[in-house]
Amino acid sequence: MDKSDRIVMAHGAGGYLMHRLIKEHILSILPRDNFEVGLHALDDSAVVNDVVFKSDSYTVKPLFFPGGDIGRLAVSGTVNDISVMGGKPIALSLALVLEEGFPIYDLDRIMQSIASTCREADVYVVTGDTKVVEKGSLDGCIINCSGIGVRSQYLDYNIDVVRRFRGGIEARWLLDSNIRPGDKIIVSGTIGDHGVAILSCREGYGFESSIKSDVRPLNRMIEKVLSVGGVVSMKDPTRGGLANLLNEWSEKSHVGILIKEEDIPIREGVRAACEMLGIDPLEIGNEGKVVLAVVAEMAEEILEVLRETDEGKDAAIIGEATDEFEGVAMETLIGGKRIIPPPLGDPVPRIC
Ligand code: MG
Repeated sequence: MDKSDRIVMAHGAGGYLMHRLIKEHILSILPRDNFEVGLHALDDSAVVNDVVFKSDSYTVKPLFFPGGDIGRLAVSGTVNDISVMGGKPIALSLALVLEEGFPIYDLDRIMQSIASTCREADVYVVTGDTKVVEKGSLDGCIINCSGIGVRSQYLDYNIDVVRRFRGGIEARWLLDSNIRPGDKIIVSGTIGDHGVAILSCREGYGFESSIKSDVRPLNRMIEKVLSVGGVVSMKDPTRGGLANLLNEWSEKSHVGILIKEEDIPIREGVRAACEMLGIDPLEIGNEGKVVLAVVAEMAEEILEVLRETDEGKDAAIIGEATDEFEGVAMETLIGGKRIIPPPLGDPVPRIC
């Protein structure tokens, strides 16, 4: 370690550099816990005495963007990370850090948005904190939203269905390490919408688009899917996008993952914006999507149920886990195969 080493933006961008920072400078220093799903799992949430526990800070820039704002993002992000473990989110904490001079009118708008998203997700803010810092010390407002959830009433049934078709799922929760060769990979809708919506309203990017962020709580849709059964693992493709998610799954489950480019749902506007800016839609963060690994026998039924929901109407089966290779690969539109490496970081900074 060189004393001149400094934090760079990519350390917060959800890719390889962030994971290295966390492993080398945070994980290795904190005392090791023995909880069922503890810090070392680096999963979407921890599980402590059957309580699903998640903390997340929101630093999105700008605070208001097409399709949402930092308030809706904070509630949705925390709710979704609890839900993808197989938890039912119930209560949140809300910690606001405000910059001196921040318009109270904007605070009111953010709070209205938090309230309506809480109603949508059926969760309550039960504790919180408010701090103010001097003008210039931060960009308007940042939010920390932590949350707890209980075990979903459908999780035991869901895991029973998995076991009916194959063994090999010892975990009581939907962990990143649960996936086995043959499992199908489903994405709940179009990818890249959130990142492109954020970019489209930043100055200096010189493009306009009608793309709106997909930010929304997904717990109701997830409950519906668990009641069908057969879900092996779930994860939300936030920073680093689908590429980062699939690489985390591949590494933690020790499986290869093969996806098909033609089956990945991407809006035309997102594709066009990505081409113009030279960024990969697979590496951009999403805030209203979930990726599911499911037993092959249940894949079609789960897809059908997803498509009946508003949140999952564009869902698609995009690939499967395999033991034929390690890492993540994609069959391209022109028929070749391309390795999908873990991204260094999300190409769009301060996306969430
Ligand atoms: Mg997550």
